Amino acid sequence: MSDAEFTIDVYYDDDADRSQIDDKTVAVLGYGSQGHAHAQNLADSGVDVVVGLREDSSSRDAAEADGLRVATPVEAAAQGDIVSVLVPDTVQPSVFEAIRDELEPGNTLQFAHGFNIHYNQIRPREDVNVQMVAPKSPGHLVRRNFENDEGTPGLLAVYQDATGEAKEEALAYAHAIGCTRAGVIETTFREETETDLFGEQAVLCGGITSLVKQGYETLVDAGYSREMAYFECLNELKLIVDLMYEGGLGEMWDSVSDTAEYGGLTRGDAVVDEHARENMEEILEEVQSGEFAQEWITENQANRPKYWQLRAQEENHEIEEVGARLRGLFAWAEEGEEEETDDEDEKITLNE
Ligand code: NAD
Ligand code: MG
Repeated sequence: MSDAEFTIDVYYDDDADRSQIDDKTVAVLGYGSQGHAHAQNLADSGVDVVVGLREDSSSRDAAEADGLRVATPVEAAAQGDIVSVLVPDTVQPSVFEAIRDELEPGNTLQFAHGFNIHYNQIRPREDVNVQMVAPKSPGHLVRRNFENDEGTPGLLAVYQDATGEAKEEALAYAHAIGCTRAGVIETTFREETETDLFGEQAVLCGGITSLVKQGYETLVDAGYSREMAYFECLNELKLIVDLMYEGGLGEMWDSVSDTAEYGGLTRGDAVVDEHARENMEEILEEVQSGEFAQEWITENQANRPKYWQLRAQEENHEIEEVGARLRGLFAWAEEGEEEETDDEDEKITLNE
């Protein structure tokens, strides 16, 4: 890792050949976070788009109001040369069963996450392309960046190349939704799926929330105020993460005091120690073996008993109540920020 060699391929606008998509129809199934962004960006790029939604979907009105053609998933898939599967991962297998007969030889199944293909929950025929363009960002940013002539970085992968041009077509799709403006990294369905699951479990969603809760509990149990514990262990995390995001660990260490740097460097590994590392390796093995995927599929089939229980437990953690109260008291509270208004008087009322 010490030599500066990149082990990845990155593609930009100039690498894309838009003739690969310009005369095609893209069926976007789903109009949620990713779906609305892909559909609108594709349409603004001049690509023919049809949005596939159930007859009773509450998103139908939104898609039509955005000027898009709406059909059922089956009708849309029948019209599409490329079928972009942007319904939630847990419903993709059943949606695929409904539309599979609409896929003609040489058509494309396009994904934004590899879970169902990698874990064999969707098994497309060999005569269709299976590819992925996955923006590394929530959909509203994919849309907003596009409108501001900016891009959103993304991942690209080809699982099955029936036409011999799957990668070129995926690059054209990435171009049309604005990803090649920022850069698209080539990966595989396996790598995208396994690193995504590991990252969200061990570090991003799972690891960090446990770290925050344990830090908070340690301070409160030792008699410190709940408010101070909240600020130290949750609120200030954003400042630290922003610095790491901007300039890596180094910028963070440079920006904090020498005392914080020495304390952190000598104590951090004692918190996330070799046991944590062993647990991470176990989590990775469960991702690689498919054990986690099977657990989540079974959980869904049973209507998510464990999911709902853990979710309620998390919502009832004391830190949530303390945080809601504190955020309401201070100026960074969401309501004050999100309500955009030119009226100064109104602004003051909102922040009160
Ligand atoms: P979402 O939950 O925001 O949207 C789902 C959409 O599908 C909604 O419009 C809903 O009405 C529709 N839908 C739900 N059930 C349906 C059904 N049975 N038939 C037809 N339509 C149905 O989903 P999302 O977060 O945009 O995720 C879509 C894909 O994008 C997933 O593969 C996800 O992993 C991937 N992805 C998401 C993000 C993100 O930030 N949200 C980022 C990268 C990749
Ligand atoms: Mg993710």
